[in-house]
Amino acid sequence: MRFRSIVGALFFVIFLNACSSAPKKIPQSPFEKMKLPTVDVNESVGFTSRGCLLGGEKIEDEGTGYTRVRLNRNRGYGNKNLIELLHKFGLFSAEKLNRKVIFSDLSLPRGGPFSSDHASHQTGLDVDVWYDTLTAQEKLSVDDKETRVVTDLGLSPKELKRENWNEALHPALLKWLSQANEVERVFVGAVIKRELCEKFRGEGWLTKIRIWYGHTDHFHVRLHCPAASGECEKPKQVLPVSADINAKGLSDEVTGCDNQLSWWFTDEALVKKSEPPTGASEKGWEFSKYPPRCQNLLKELELLGEVRRD
Ligand SMILES: [Zn+2]
Repeated sequence: MRFRSIVGALFFVIFLNACSSAPKKIPQSPFEKMKLPTVDVNESVGFTSRGCLLGGEKIEDEGTGYTRVRLNRNRGYGNKNLIELLHKFGLFSAEKLNRKVIFSDLSLPRGGPFSSDHASHQTGLDVDVWYDTLTAQEKLSVDDKETRVVTDLGLSPKELKRENWNEALHPALLKWLSQANEVERVFVGAVIKRELCEKFRGEGWLTKIRIWYGHTDHFHVRLHCPAASGECEKPKQVLPVSADINAKGLSDEVTGCDNQLSWWFTDEALVKKSEPPTGASEKGWEFSKYPPRCQNLLKELELLGEVRRD
């Protein structure tokens, strides 16, 4: 029981920094109205679920080994560390796996909260990657990029859909990302972590593979705060420090393959939890808890009466 309450507390702490669906209808976020990045030096400010992005860099829609989807959401901006990492990841996918990976949401041009889909992704350090991949020759049409149906690897919250899981490809993608120094953690569904724990027990890279609700049709990659982003806030829940992401023979406790995994298959865990992003309500948005430099971005909009004033 004690363990459960600890896990429960950890949930609460990490809850707002994982991507989750907003259950209530909330109005458009003022940040969704900002169509272009600022002209500042590239910098991530604040926390992933309470922050913004200055001088946001846009990833190209197509590149070596990758393509982006859902372009009309205008969520293709990030910290330059993220853009660089995604280019390297695309190269790895093309050269070593002969596949193209698919990226969906990064952040809005100036970061900040969304009215749908995510509580995090606010500082340009998060990206969603589909488990689906394309052959090297495949090209998605403009329409496909908006409407293509994503493949789900979960048969149920407790069971992996075996026919959609590729034993070579999927672990290779997750392992490459987890072994990248820039990556802080990768969120996957519980059934996927369980599969990895069975096949790669004791391997250091598993420490960065963490479980969150959903995440059986995409995984979520989060980067460390870049050294150049002095006002970037680190997550409060620190992962176990493994000696080495390349190590073997680590304990299940370190790799998260112990009770931290089995809890996710209990009835308690299966009750899906979700909450609107920081500052959101059905009445509007409130940004007083955001870093001052993020609040400054709203000044133009405030003059237009777009932001709720209490
Ligand atoms: Zn995400």
